[in-house]
Amino acid sequence: MKKFVWGFSAVLLLTVFAGLYFKGNLQNPGVEKTEFLFDTYCSISAYGHDAEEAVDAVFEKLREIHKITDFYSEKSEISRINSAKKGEVITLGDDMYNIISAAKKVEEASDGAFDISLAPVSSLWEFDKDGRVPSDGEIKKALEICGGEAIVFDAATKTIIKNADDAKIDLGGAAKGYAGDVAVKILKSYGVGGAIVDLGGNICCVGENRDVRDKKWRIGLQKPFEVAGEYDQVVHIDEGSVVTSGTYQRFFEKDGKKYHHILDPKTGFPKETDYSSVTIVGESSLYGDCLATACFVLGKEDAEALAKEFGMEIYFK
Ligand code: AMP
Ligand code: MG
Repeated sequence: MKKFVWGFSAVLLLTVFAGLYFKGNLQNPGVEKTEFLFDTYCSISAYGHDAEEAVDAVFEKLREIHKITDFYSEKSEISRINSAKKGEVITLGDDMYNIISAAKKVEEASDGAFDISLAPVSSLWEFDKDGRVPSDGEIKKALEICGGEAIVFDAATKTIIKNADDAKIDLGGAAKGYAGDVAVKILKSYGVGGAIVDLGGNICCVGENRDVRDKKWRIGLQKPFEVAGEYDQVVHIDEGSVVTSGTYQRFFEKDGKKYHHILDPKTGFPKETDYSSVTIVGESSLYGDCLATACFVLGKEDAEALAKEFGMEIYFK
């Protein structure tokens, strides 16, 4: 599936960068559209049969998934879940069911390193504003309603039940991945020749890269804390997904210390590591997204085993 090329200065001269992928992948994409969704810029470049209609259909669906999973919108399905009372049986829509079902599998396989029920803790941190470090007491109290049985998911009835009124879910570590998989499915159903979907750095590739002889897509892995577009490694893939979880994606600095947005469910604090990003390469972007976050928290050895269990490639930076 992948092959690495180190040192790519020649490629650099020929390409313009955006996100993680090389725009030079499709020098004449046919269609190229961008919208701001999931709190980030989402771009799709495609060529071939009905490419324009396909890209429009994808954005229509992405807007729908964004609406459902928007933590801050009172009208979203996720807000309906988060405002439900303890014990209430909540029936999930199909998209929500698909996301939660994968998230729960990764939660179980990662021994809770990936945990969508961490929302009461993650909402105490303010990564987007000036930055706020919650007190130990606040974190301890919030952790009491997170993890394990906080959200009981029943796959057979497509329902969940919360174990506390204030239990909440946060799909920030999974929703873009799901959106990527759905985008791929739609693009394929229209029969496009090739496409790249870039959802804020979550990349999915469809079909063939018609601009190169081997037909593979070139995805650059961002150097942490460098200007966007600084790469030192390029993954060559056929169809598939490349997802990165990195400390440089959302963080703030306070009193000389950096606080990033990937939290260790055991402590409620940003996970301290000797690497800054984890990239997962594989077929499913939804699982890639959940796994990238989980693997960041797990540490190298356990992360490599987990990625292998799901048939994914893993890279640390
Ligand atoms: P990602 O960029 O995919 O690694 O997702 C990070 C986002 O997922 C954060 O901004 C939080 O909204 C949420 N999050 C943080 N830590 C975790 C965790 N351990 N498990 C699940 N979601 C998390
Ligand atoms: Mg993720």
